[in-house]
Amino acid sequence: MNAPLPVQMLKQHLIDPEICIRCNTCEETCPVDAITHDSNNYVVNPDICNGCMACVPPCPTGSIDNWRMVLRSEAYSVQDQLGWEELPQEKSLPQAADAGVALDAPDIAAAAVSASFAVPGASIPPWSAAHPYVNLYTHKTPMTATVVGNYRVTGVDTESDIHHIVLDFGELPFPVLEGQSIGILPPGTDAQGRPHHARQYSLASPRDGERAGYNNLSLTVKRVTEDHGGVAAHGVCSNYLCDLAKNDTVQVIGPFGHTFLMPNHPRANLIMICTGTGSAPMRAMTERYRRRIDTGENGRLMLFFGARTERELPYFGPLMKLPRDFIDINLALSREAGQPKRYVQDLIRERAAPVLDLLSDRNTCIYVCGLKGMEVGVLDALRDVTMQSGQDWSILHDVLRREGRLHFETY
Ligand code: NAP
Repeated sequence: MNAPLPVQMLKQHLIDPEICIRCNTCEETCPVDAITHDSNNYVVNPDICNGCMACVPPCPTGSIDNWRMVLRSEAYSVQDQLGWEELPQEKSLPQAADAGVALDAPDIAAAAVSASFAVPGASIPPWSAAHPYVNLYTHKTPMTATVVGNYRVTGVDTESDIHHIVLDFGELPFPVLEGQSIGILPPGTDAQGRPHHARQYSLASPRDGERAGYNNLSLTVKRVTEDHGGVAAHGVCSNYLCDLAKNDTVQVIGPFGHTFLMPNHPRANLIMICTGTGSAPMRAMTERYRRRIDTGENGRLMLFFGARTERELPYFGPLMKLPRDFIDINLALSREAGQPKRYVQDLIRERAAPVLDLLSDRNTCIYVCGLKGMEVGVLDALRDVTMQSGQDWSILHDVLRREGRLHFETY
């Protein structure tokens, strides 16, 4: 047991402004509304934060996981933090050391475990995941990439203008893994005259490149022309990216992400559940498996993919050409003329038997990516199919999280 902090001490939660990509995930996650932001920084209000850690696992960069021991009377205020360009140095606090309250690793680990139950997915990667590199390039030291491809992957007659964009890094290292993301710095300034903040995109290509052996990667980007409520809105970064031409250059930061990673051991199975552009990491993982299809190392792949119509489903053509004994594809189309509306969770229930079979194998990992709204529906569907077999979903759910086998990336 760790000794409780003396009342005059505070383990203050801070966000590193040099690494934060201002994606708003922490503010959305915080259950007590302790996180706020202005056009410069995301910050934590020390008067409200209760150290519950709910915001830590979802943060793609790890910038959220910073702590300083301070005297409560000298806590950094919201106003202090909003003006920061970097985190302050640790203060020496002899009082804290004398009282034996230094922040130690078990303390953090215990908090992280309890936080993992505040979110639906795991806060650790699968045991066999490869080592990810993160934050190699930051706002202050971005990498310049060259566009070597940009083409539309949805029907031209549809409203969903989704692009497959290939970026090349030339001679400079940019090591990535499937499931990681990068940040793009769009040029120009916002309404307050500040440089636009970075936007985050998942990789759509595997670790060895969009083209195997090349130092490049791909992204799946939907041109944003309206907000979630259907009101006209111009997506700054998505429009910038979709309009790029071959040989244009782009400022890139990252890579990010250390948990939504695929298992690296032979015969690991993947259940992939996605909607729309949430298919990006699923394409990366599937392509990793496809490239070693003849090695005998692959486990089973099962894909649940939701889109409005076939023509709005990115990569529909190439996906349907994959061999049926390589991947079990289940398409949930919600607005296809003459067909009932279907979501991925409906198909999970319909395919309960093979889903249960995979769930009973400890070599199976589950990945969910796409719209935030699908989280609850997918969890309910997994619970229903588990209960059909007489198992207790709450127990299996805990096991999947503890073993890093259930991962969510939703926005
Ligand atoms: P979308 O076209 O709006 O929707 C895709 C499908 O999901 C549609 O069939 C839609 O049905 C259905 N859907 C809506 N609500 C659902 C729910 N509660 N449960 C299950 N299915 C539901 O998708 P999108 O515009 O491509 O958005 C994809 C999301 O992925 C975005 O939020 C994006 O931020 C996120 N994402 C993108 C990336 C990337 O790298 N680009 C990476 C990770 C995540 P309806 O007909 O009912 O609308």
